Order: sequence, then structure tokens, then C-alpha cells
Amino acid sequence: MKRLLIPSWLLFVAIGCEKPGEAKLGFEAIWPNAVSYEIFVQSFNDTDGDGIGDINGVTEKLDYLEELGIKGIWLMPIMPSPSYHKYDVTDYRDIHSDYGTLEEFRHLVSEAHKRDIRIIIDLVINHSSSQHPWFLQAKSSPQSQYRDYYVWGDYDSVKTALTKMETSPDSDNIYQWHDPKVENNDQRYFGFFSNQMPDLNFDHQPLRNEIYDIGRFWLKEIGVDGFRLDAARHIYPHERAADSHAFWVEFRERMESFKSDVLLVGEVWAESEEVAPFLQGLHSTFNFELRNRLIQAIKDEEASYLAVDHKAMIEEYSQFTEEFYDAIILSNHDQNRILSDLNGDIPQLKLAAAVLHSLPGTPYLYYGEEIGMLGVKPDPLIREPFLWDQKDEDHGRPTWEEAVYSTDEAVKSLGQQKKDTASVFNFYKRLLSTRNGSEALTLGDIEPLDKSVSQLLIFKRISQNQEVLVLHNVSSGPLIWDLPQELGDFSTVLFSNGQHSRYQNMLQMDPWSSIFFVK
Ligand code: CA
Repeated sequence: MKRLLIPSWLLFVAIGCEKPGEAKLGFEAIWPNAVSYEIFVQSFNDTDGDGIGDINGVTEKLDYLEELGIKGIWLMPIMPSPSYHKYDVTDYRDIHSDYGTLEEFRHLVSEAHKRDIRIIIDLVINHSSSQHPWFLQAKSSPQSQYRDYYVWGDYDSVKTALTKMETSPDSDNIYQWHDPKVENNDQRYFGFFSNQMPDLNFDHQPLRNEIYDIGRFWLKEIGVDGFRLDAARHIYPHERAADSHAFWVEFRERMESFKSDVLLVGEVWAESEEVAPFLQGLHSTFNFELRNRLIQAIKDEEASYLAVDHKAMIEEYSQFTEEFYDAIILSNHDQNRILSDLNGDIPQLKLAAAVLHSLPGTPYLYYGEEIGMLGVKPDPLIREPFLWDQKDEDHGRPTWEEAVYSTDEAVKSLGQQKKDTASVFNFYKRLLSTRNGSEALTLGDIEPLDKSVSQLLIFKRISQNQEVLVLHNVSSGPLIWDLPQELGDFSTVLFSNGQHSRYQNMLQMDPWSSIFFVK
């Protein structure tokens, strides 16, 4: 235990600076190593006044995203679909008419590229919509050319499964086999998530070819930079995980033949040991396990092992490939918003963000996180409209749903926050600027240090030309700690949040505070 008695506070020198330090070495992170941003178009920015966010609304906010320090955008599904969330596609080669047109989307891609911002789109290929023309034809007749695009089982062979419910992290208590409810049919179709989302049959080569051509369309004809692959874990049932891994290897080969630097980011919602083999095909996967541990560490005020845990996950991934991007998040469209999970505590949100952005990987912000938006499931309430300005002045705010959590009373708009140097927005902007400008924070390995003080998370990030010493006080109380002699020359502050004082190697940290040093 290294809490020490201090002779006099007056000896300490305040070092809590509020601007990035000097030691940047002229580094500037580039995508896909830099910070990305997830957008639910529907709730982002409405430019034609119909109450629904649109593609032009994203284009209009590119300058804002550039100011924030964003280098990549992941758009949640933009293709035609009967649902508000659009994770059930009816046409894989078009834009939903609520959102705009292919021409408007091409314009967005072009404007983003002018700013060195890359665009990846959600590609939902585990299943289609039950309203997709393929499925409508497939279910109408066993002789349809599209019948084998889907997975069918004779009633007798699946009848015991019809009443069996499966629980997984991304679905709960739902049936997997469904009745198509057409005449003269004794077969049932497989739909892991719901009867409105029939799974596509990847044992059927014509279906695979169709999917590859959809990839070619978006990469070659439209110019997107990659895909976020929804439900990547469910291409085949869990007992055929190796077939799912092999599919993604083939998918990657095909996509790289269309665009050599394509980025494939997969949703594999599982513990790291199950995620790891997917990285043979996917370039990147989201790290849900780290997200859960980070939040738990804050709740428990016990974070000293977080760097060790993250390093272990990275080593797990490294058993399958040396080249991968660990996509790290505080939350996305499927989880409660991070600030709600932290009970609305802004200092804890800033600490969580500082921890995330000091770890290895490629961070993704969920839209609105940077202004402290709130939201608790069910899903529509974690996907509420962005607050650009105060209510009467907010011309871009979508109105398709009325906010329950991110109301004007509960969340300060971006416009208000821009004027406040202590706002969540200005904190995020400073944090992203620090990370994007640091070679070690962007590319470096992680070296966990002293784990003996449970509320102190301390580690080094080490790259070829830079070392950063990172300290977080993950607790509601002040922390006093003496830097070991060998760390004494880390004396220049690269980033800090909260007040800190240092007397020689003795460091005092505020509750929920962070400080990064370079030599
Ligand atoms: Ca609109």
C-alpha cells in the first residue's frame, strides 16, 4: 500500500494543466488506428424537416466531426428496411428513402474523404428481412430459385426445437425456428433473432456469390471504406463456429480483391477467447468484454488489474493473427448509454473515457456520448435524437421519437457545451486531440505497472518513438502515490483531467482523475 503521509500540502506544485502537452513528435493518427464514431442516421441530423435524420444531415456535420477529432464513421444500417432500426434489409443495393438517395450517399463519401474521414457501413448479412423479395419468393414455393438462400427444416426434424428458446448475449429467450404460414408447406425456417429476420444460408454458393457482389457494389461502385458486420458470430450455429470463421476468411479475400485496404469490423458478442478465432477473417472486432470490465471497475473502485486484463485479451487475439484492430467502446446502440450506466455521474464518465482512450486499440464513440447523452433500454431510448442546440433553436434535431432520457432538461446541447470549457464535449475534444497526436497512445504496446493499489490504474504505453506513463485514480477519494524512482523522469504532462499535485515523485490525484506523463 503506497498511501503516504505528507508533511505539508504547500510543498506540492499544482500540475493539473488543461491543455495538451508539447511532446507530440509531429504524430497524427490515421484511420483505422484513429478514433471512429458510430451514427444512427435516423436520430442524428434532419436536413429536410421530415423529422428523420438523413444522409445529407451526416454530410452537414462532417466539419463538426472533424473538429471533434473523428477519423472514421460507422453508419448503422442505411438500406431499405421495414423497421426503424433497419437491421432487417429488403434491398442490399439502395438507401432507405427516409435517409436519401445513393447520389446523396456518394456525395457524403466524397465529402468525408476530402476531410480524411473514412466511412464504413453496417452490412447485415446474417439474415435478411422477412419482407425481402428473396424470402417472399423462397417461402412461396420449395421450387423457388431463392428457396436455398434460407435455411429450411422439415417440421418433424425441427419440431423439438420449435419450442426451445436460446439465450445469448445478443438475443434472449427467442425461438429459432418459425412457421412461414403459407399453404401446403410442412417446413420451418431458421431465424436466430426473430421470425422477421430469416437467416441466410451460407452453405449455398449462389447466396455467397450474391453477398460478395453486394460487397463489391458498395466498395467499388459507391466507394465506402469498409463494413461493420452485424451478428458476425451467427453466420453458422455455434456448434459450427469453425465454419463461421472460415466464411469470414473467404469474405475477406473477396473484399480485399475489390479494395485492398478495406476494413471489416465484426460484431462478435462474446468473451475474448470466442472472439479471437474470428480475427483470422475479420480485421477487427468489438471488445464487449473490456467494456463490461471497465464499467465494473468504476462501480467497484477497483481498477488495478484492468491493464493486465486487457493485455491478456490482446494476447488471446495474437494467437490467431498479429495484425488486428481491437475496437474498444464504452457503449454502442445495443447497450445502455455509458453515462446512464454510471448513474449520470459526469466525473465518472470523463474518467471512463480517459481510461478507454488511453488503452490500445481503435476507440469508437457512440454518437452523443461526447455530449453526455443518456439512455436506458428498451432500444429506441438508447437511440434518441442528438441535441445540437436548445429546443427552439435546434433545427437539425430529429423529431421521429420524443426523448425520454436525453431531454433538454437532462442534457446540455452541443451549442451550450461548446461555450463551456469544462463541458463533456470540450473534454472529449481535448482527449481525442491528445490520443490522435500521440504515437504511443495510438500504436503503442501496453505494459501494466504496479497493481498493489486497487483504485490506481497505472501502465505504460510504448511505441517506437514515445513512451507515455498513464495514471487513473478510479475512486471517489483522493489518492496519494509515490512514483517509483525508475518512473521519476516522466515529468511532462501530456494530458490531465482533474487537479493533481506533485512534489518530487509524490503524486496527489483528485477523485476520478487521470494524468498522462511523457519524459
Ligand atoms: Ca430528414
